[in-house]
Amino acid sequence: MSARQETPGSAEYGNLYELFRSRFPAERSRGFIVLEDGRAYSYADLEDISGRYARLLADLGVAKGERVAVQVEKSPEAIFLYLACLRAGAIILPLNPAYTKAEVGYFLGDAEPKVVVCRPEAEDAVREAARAAGVAHVLTLDQSDGGSLPERARDLTPIDGCVAAEADDVAAFLYTSGTTGRSKGAMLTHRNLGSNALALHKTWGFRSDDVLLHALPLFHTHGLFVATHCVLLNGTGMLFLPKFDADAIVRLLPRATVMMGVPTFYTRLLAHPAFTAEVCRNMRLFISGSAPLLEETFHAFRQRTGHTILERYGMTETGMNTSNPLDGERIAGTVGFPLPGVEARVCDENGKLLGPGEIGVIEVRGPNVFLGYWRMPEKTVAEFRPDGFFITGDVGKIDERGYIHIVGRAKDLIISGGFNVYPKEVELCIDRIDGVVESAVIGVPHPDFGEAVLAVVKRAPGRDDLTADAVVAACKTELANFKVPKHAHFVDELPRNAMGKVQKNELRARYADA
Ligand code: AMP
Repeated sequence: MSARQETPGSAEYGNLYELFRSRFPAERSRGFIVLEDGRAYSYADLEDISGRYARLLADLGVAKGERVAVQVEKSPEAIFLYLACLRAGAIILPLNPAYTKAEVGYFLGDAEPKVVVCRPEAEDAVREAARAAGVAHVLTLDQSDGGSLPERARDLTPIDGCVAAEADDVAAFLYTSGTTGRSKGAMLTHRNLGSNALALHKTWGFRSDDVLLHALPLFHTHGLFVATHCVLLNGTGMLFLPKFDADAIVRLLPRATVMMGVPTFYTRLLAHPAFTAEVCRNMRLFISGSAPLLEETFHAFRQRTGHTILERYGMTETGMNTSNPLDGERIAGTVGFPLPGVEARVCDENGKLLGPGEIGVIEVRGPNVFLGYWRMPEKTVAEFRPDGFFITGDVGKIDERGYIHIVGRAKDLIISGGFNVYPKEVELCIDRIDGVVESAVIGVPHPDFGEAVLAVVKRAPGRDDLTADAVVAACKTELANFKVPKHAHFVDELPRNAMGKVQKNELRARYADA
């Protein structure tokens, strides 16, 4: 089954920065970023600082199409640096500050940037990695406007406008998390980012009085592109937190109208006693994505606040693909419909189109879909169908009403005794058991079945009386035998990455001999 909506209005694709600038408020003194400590940056500041950073990049010899690697903490300057890269026609390569020296060494060697910008405290290590990779320049940037980047750019004259770019020029390399094999550099173009930003801005009905609460990291598509681009296209302001902090969110929510988060933001907010409907009184929209939102969280959130979280689905290689509707029914456990201009279909592994309700791999096509993996042409070809659809690797279905459901990653599919087991189905069953907070279901090697189904379960506080046998017995009443976990292990917390995704690789390794 496949689905498609029309592309939104006429998008002008040149340099993405030009698109943003065409939407900036005429009155450039209007606020762009406000921090809790009172620091504030206007659109005039945005133009000035990004223009000076772009000048410095140009002075360092960064030509169009050259890479700038950025491994810094979240700050307004980090956003200005991203915009400076766009303006200079450079390709930004944002890196998670948690990456080690060895990992950074790999990215620098692979992407061959001209400049790397890092945290002052990591300068020595990054310099070493940069030298080994032949990177010409290392600059530093801290969280409060300090470091050699702002210092060297301070007295420069901002560049005029920006370097001309074609729609298919690359604007960013986002490295995939690389849980299977080498991390791949997904090349995203000005068109990819611009078309997606326009589609989201329209789909989520941004208004002239919107204020976004930004608590996401900036090294990932969610915080750097989805959230920031909507604000830039809207020409309005955002409340900017250096990281997720439930106390700070509760303090700032009354001043905000839109928040984007990963599911763990919402579960943590629900665990906060001061998170109430009153705190959300000015909010119009809570959006969730990057990992599956538990149905229980969806319902508990509605009960607590009166707000229905809008869940959307995307990935590094494609930006956002689908969204629950702003005005229509938002259905728990679904990721909604394809965004305007995006086509989505579900196929079997041979590319045969499947019907409504049939489970297969989700494939997408549209202006949002990346150009390919940097220097990996074979890998790129292998992940596209001849008709241009990208094989996402997410397993799901499209229901009769057109809503898309994700059941898991293809690589997480368990094949036990020759039967396919979709972890999500088993997880949903376990999560309904009284005393269970959440669960992750994985396959582990088994001499007889090939793989055995194993459950990893987080119990509610004070529910140590819930036994592994009881979990297995409850599954037996609802699921066919081949889907029932052979055993359940209890954990205090499921391992998650920075975007809230459960790390099933880690669980598979931990329980491989179980
Ligand atoms: P990343 O490339 O890190 O953004 O991860 C993308 C992957 O996250 C997708 O391929 C999905 O497996 C998962 N994902 C993103 N959004 C959702 C969602 N709303 N529900 C379930 N999985 C999601």
